[in-house]
Amino acid sequence: MHTKTLTELAQGLRSGKFSSLELTHAFLARIKQHQYLNAYITVTEEQALQSAKAADQRLASGNAELLTGIPIAQKDIFCTLDVKTTCGSKMLDNFTAPYNATVVEKFNQAGAVMLGKLNMDEFAMGSSNETSYYGAVKNPWNINTVPGGSSGGSAAAVAARLTVCATGTDTGGSIRQPAALCGITGLKPTYGRVSRYGMIAYASSLDQGGPMTQNAADAAIMLQTMAGFDEKDSTSVDLPVPDYRAGLNNSLAGLKIGLPKEFFGDGLNNDMAATLEIAINEYKKLGAEVKEISMPNLKLAIPAYYVIAPAECSANLSRFDGVRYGYRCKNPVDLADLYTRSRGEAFGKEVKRRILMGTYALSTGYYDAYYLKAQKIRRLISEDFKKALADVDVIMGPVTPTTAFGIGEKMDDPIEMYLSDIYTIAINLAGLPAISIPAGFIRDMPVGLQIIGNYFAEDRLLNVAHQYQKVTNWHHHTPKGFE
Ligand code: GLN
Repeated sequence: MHTKTLTELAQGLRSGKFSSLELTHAFLARIKQHQYLNAYITVTEEQALQSAKAADQRLASGNAELLTGIPIAQKDIFCTLDVKTTCGSKMLDNFTAPYNATVVEKFNQAGAVMLGKLNMDEFAMGSSNETSYYGAVKNPWNINTVPGGSSGGSAAAVAARLTVCATGTDTGGSIRQPAALCGITGLKPTYGRVSRYGMIAYASSLDQGGPMTQNAADAAIMLQTMAGFDEKDSTSVDLPVPDYRAGLNNSLAGLKIGLPKEFFGDGLNNDMAATLEIAINEYKKLGAEVKEISMPNLKLAIPAYYVIAPAECSANLSRFDGVRYGYRCKNPVDLADLYTRSRGEAFGKEVKRRILMGTYALSTGYYDAYYLKAQKIRRLISEDFKKALADVDVIMGPVTPTTAFGIGEKMDDPIEMYLSDIYTIAINLAGLPAISIPAGFIRDMPVGLQIIGNYFAEDRLLNVAHQYQKVTNWHHHTPKGFE
């Protein structure tokens, strides 16, 4: 059962080939068997079995939705009622939210069966899933390598078939990058498409939740449930949600693909360039036209992001003060001691580094030089995309500079770690949607192809990804030992 896609499982449940209870037992057993991957922080066994029973009744009664009875796992950044939500931090190790995130609520309503909460970089800060308080997640393709971050638990769990689908969040690449490094499909929707209510904030103007699955058709099903206006999120956009499955089979004849020369230039290693070229040739065979484009401000994305994201995080994380919720230090002598020791003892090194950088960038005298300047660059980057997307339908490029690197390899060099986000970050600054799909292997490790679309063109991205997946089989590969 675990080898099947979400689409196949939904059919199997409907035709009575297996029950949700059987399915849930099977996945729970796999989670136990492969615990060493460290993909899950919390497994909600009892609750899952109960929801599976309820789902089976709903399936029998005939009013089931596509996701009814389907196992799902939530990134531990989404608040879950009665289930611990840690955000990968010691700060929230004792935290149980008093409500469900909108995304969680929607999956519950659809009758999906939550298997548990997935490991992640602390407060979603990281590119390798090594900053989690709960330890690094291992990449099932090679357990000595990282799965990517920050949704590394989500990507590893889908790749190792410890769930059929998972949620992720993407502030600067955290859905696409782990998807690429683990050989799965990950979609970062347009900013505002999916509610952020109950999704613990890292950088509020960049954060966006999205689906992580084996393939694009499955992502379409998940996004259908996740997307839509939410009055509880003031930045959620009130636009109708299209039927994401309806357009999957549209022809790609005449599709205009832009390839930014800044993505395919000197910085890209030869193996990566050669693998992506094969993928792009596949698109030509499907009738697409390819042209080179230029986005001169892309090179400024990393410095701009690493001012804006830390600035927003320094404000967002000020709520963790040892008073209202989360970790509290022992025997504080006064209020200042309570604040400083609670935060000092419970935040990890990377989180502290971001808070320091952000507070510095926002302080009087530096605000104009750093924060304001970064915001201006953000605008220039958006303009680059706007111009490019007036001329082409989608933009393609790499997701990551290399395949998965070794655990520990970049932990002592934050700049090197930040550079692994070079192909994903600009898209968040512009607020655009983008998808990462499996596009080959380099020395047995998966490679992702990134497809970027116009605002709210998730349906187009899913269509472009699905057509490729109909003529290639990279997304069918499963890591050894997890078949
Ligand atoms: N790696 C980036 C960061 O550390 C992006 C993380 C994310 O998208 N959540 O900020």
